[in-house]
Amino acid sequence: MPGNAELVARSLKSVWHPATQMKAHETVPMVPMVRGEGPWLFDADGRRHLDAISSWWVNLFGHREPRIGGAIKAQLDRLEHVILAGFTHEPVVRLSEELSALTGGTLGHAFYASDGASATEIALKMSAHFWRNHGRAEKNRFVCIEGGYHGETLGALAVTDVPLFRQAYEPLVRGAHAVPSPDDRNAAGNESRESVALRAADALERFLEAHADTTAAVILEPLIQCAGGMAMHHPVYLRKVREACDRHSVHLIADEIAVGFGRTGTLFAHEQADIRPDFLCLSKGITGGFLPLSVVLSTDAVYDAFYDDSAARAFLHSHSYTGNPLACAAALAVLDIFRTDDVIATNQQKATRFDAIAAPLREDERLSHFRRTGMVWAFDVAASTRGFARRFTSAMAQRGVLLVPLGRTVYFMPPYVFGDEEFSMLVTATRSALDEVLTPER
Ligand SMILES: *Cc1c(COP(=O)(O)O)cnc(C)c1O
Repeated sequence: MPGNAELVARSLKSVWHPATQMKAHETVPMVPMVRGEGPWLFDADGRRHLDAISSWWVNLFGHREPRIGGAIKAQLDRLEHVILAGFTHEPVVRLSEELSALTGGTLGHAFYASDGASATEIALKMSAHFWRNHGRAEKNRFVCIEGGYHGETLGALAVTDVPLFRQAYEPLVRGAHAVPSPDDRNAAGNESRESVALRAADALERFLEAHADTTAAVILEPLIQCAGGMAMHHPVYLRKVREACDRHSVHLIADEIAVGFGRTGTLFAHEQADIRPDFLCLSKGITGGFLPLSVVLSTDAVYDAFYDDSAARAFLHSHSYTGNPLACAAALAVLDIFRTDDVIATNQQKATRFDAIAAPLREDERLSHFRRTGMVWAFDVAASTRGFARRFTSAMAQRGVLLVPLGRTVYFMPPYVFGDEEFSMLVTATRSALDEVLTPER
């Protein structure tokens, strides 16, 4: 078996890594992983790394969770794949039924793809096509939130308000309108988070008053805008957005690709506002990090707008791996674990204990906006800290922790199998790495 140095050298020659300036690897080390177990990853030199970000937010129950692995193995012996146009299979039927039941039957039509960005594309296309089928083709524009992230294909990029990801492709992208963010950190003076949320909702209301005639949908990440810096907001924002969308006949697309499946403390984040969206996008945690799968759930009203004798009125979108049986089997195992392990309630108790463990970070005067929603913790370091993300990632890697800040926002998004011991190790490593990185270089 090749060791770390050899694997990295070969990777840098042949693999074009995502979200990476490859030249940065002249100085930033890369870590090749060969094995996973629970919250741990093991590199090619046998060193273990604590996975504090669930391997890009997908791994809910730790690496190689045996029940998910077992479900995939069992499915492998029955059926690995079949075209989903004109054919069906039990795992996709059961998964669709279970997801529908989990939304109280309100989002009962499941359309599948294989990644998050494709789910965004599907929701945007479905929404615009819905209005077209209703004779309102001019309702084809979208509203997103400042700093929102919905993926990086051209359609998804249009509603992704992260300048670094968008700049180079601006001429290829059809602009959407970004409304002010309900981010708690926008509080002026002693303003409450609820007031920040209401102020942001007002701005959306005013935009829709003027532009609802050309707007198909509002897309947002409920409760936490994740890639945009773990920006958290009060649930009242979602209630007000739902009301505004209803008042102005505009769809609400909830992108729960990152925040779904218990991450915010409820199975779906929108539940905390006691609302339902018209479209619900899910991916990432849906297979526990085992296989690529995404799904868009929609309402009867949406589905009925496409149900017709005319092919042109149908939703003709497709992906070759749509509803892949192995991925569906993994997702069914994930939903099973939520039930048998009472994951939501267990996580609530864990999060309270982890809060106590994280107290030294909350009290650290070098840090600001220490915050938590469900199983996501985040804080910011001062804006003047140059090269922070790169240096902090390296400092954490040296301490055996896999963690990648978003700019100057550090966040923990641990797999739910973390215990007090792992969380303590994470906090200790973080404090020590902060001491190293925030000390001015001489
Ligand atoms: C990751 C993410 C996406 C895109 O998912 P991919 O599978 O990476 O294409 C979309 N929306 C949100 C909120 C995400 O976090």
